[in-house]
Amino acid sequence: METQVRSQVLHEVLTANEAYVESFGDKGSLPLPPGRHFAILTCMDARLDPAKYAGLAEGDAHVIRNAGGRASDDAIRSLIISHKLLGTTEWFVIHHTDCGMELFTDDIIRGLLKKSLKTATIDASGWRNVTEEGGSDEAKFVSFLTISNLADSVTEDVERIKSHPLVPADIAVYGYIYDVRTGRLIDVPEATLAGAIAES
Ligand SMILES: [Zn+2]
Repeated sequence: METQVRSQVLHEVLTANEAYVESFGDKGSLPLPPGRHFAILTCMDARLDPAKYAGLAEGDAHVIRNAGGRASDDAIRSLIISHKLLGTTEWFVIHHTDCGMELFTDDIIRGLLKKSLKTATIDASGWRNVTEEGGSDEAKFVSFLTISNLADSVTEDVERIKSHPLVPADIAVYGYIYDVRTGRLIDVPEATLAGAIAES
């Protein structure tokens, strides 16, 4: 059953790609550096489509995605490359309402993984494993960067990026929360203030 579902998805993706290739046009000649000189760090949530909510076409901007849209070491690695080698000068940190990263803590996911690697379920009493075999203790070495308050997580990440020694002072960083019910980007004033370019 699972295999069947997977191969169906594989078929759908390759079919969609054929259609994309047909209408690819002259995009093969786009330059490597993003034409609009900005980058977005946002969550991997399937409901978020940065190309649509921020009006991007191929070649416009860098989009860095991870669980939560957090300023992890690896997200910062990408942002440094984005500016230093590819010329972006404005960065957005965009978290969102109803984020899955608000639904657990490091302790909870470590406890679940310790007993089983299979997908867990959630109900009113919290997360539960459906089986309890084949787990691993390795999650104790992973910081999952969960979120307890969205405005705080956006601000914390903008501050972390702005204060990073490899991020120059003249990069503007903006902090927003995407509302999954309306599609609107909501400003997080404290984050954007923290991300502003200091007056010289
Ligand atoms: Zn999310």
